Amino acid sequence: MTKFDIITIFPDIFASYFQESIIKRAQEKKLIKINIHNLRDWTSDKHKTVDDKPFGGGAGMVLKIEPIYRAVKKLKKKNSRVILLSAKGKKFDQKMARKFSKLEQIILICGRYEGVDERAAKYVADEEISIGDYVLTGGELPAMLITDAVARLVPGVINKKSLDEESFQTVDSLEYPQYTRPEIFSAKGKSWKVPKVLLSGNHKEIADWQAKQKKTAKRIEK
Ligand code: SAM
Repeated sequence: MTKFDIITIFPDIFASYFQESIIKRAQEKKLIKINIHNLRDWTSDKHKTVDDKPFGGGAGMVLKIEPIYRAVKKLKKKNSRVILLSAKGKKFDQKMARKFSKLEQIILICGRYEGVDERAAKYVADEEISIGDYVLTGGELPAMLITDAVARLVPGVINKKSLDEESFQTVDSLEYPQYTRPEIFSAKGKSWKVPKVLLSGNHKEIADWQAKQKKTAKRIEK
């Protein structure tokens, strides 16, 4: 079982996504466990303060190191990885997702406001991860995204054949194009057709076509 422990100041954000579809079933089957932790539970003042002004001035507030340190200290088990979500982190990809899917525990620390006291990156987290070159308001969406990508690779969550055919399964490979009914869709005065070979019923020809498409598939560039 892979356990995800997500530390956040907005725990309610997660419920709807994690209670649907494959991720929901994976939890029911006890293949994964997702725990959402409110960072405020690890504060020690009566106002449950999680942030403060940055030293040296500057706009906004910064999440404090103490509650983050306490949360991770309490939650961290063996064979685990502590990830701080950060726009300047290493970019998340399928290779990382595969590596994480072999862990017993992944702790995800969600930043907010202007970010997190740098000591969390330096001394508490094993690594900083970004989901792309843009700035979000918080680490909650990145934590959801990483949980989703990793959870579906945990053995038993998705059938192996589906995973084997997917994009990025081997280094940079991309999936072949997929179609479903109707065979012809009419729009804008045109007929958008499904490639004939897929309707032929000839398994060998279909497999050859899919293999060729996979070989020549290119990532869409700007
Ligand atoms: N001041 C920070 C900067 O310039 O990099 C941005 C802070 S952002 C508004 C607040 C939090 O959102 C971050 O601490 C981080 O946890 C999360 N975050 C924002 N963009 C992210 C990204 N691309 N990948 C991962 N986490 C991100």
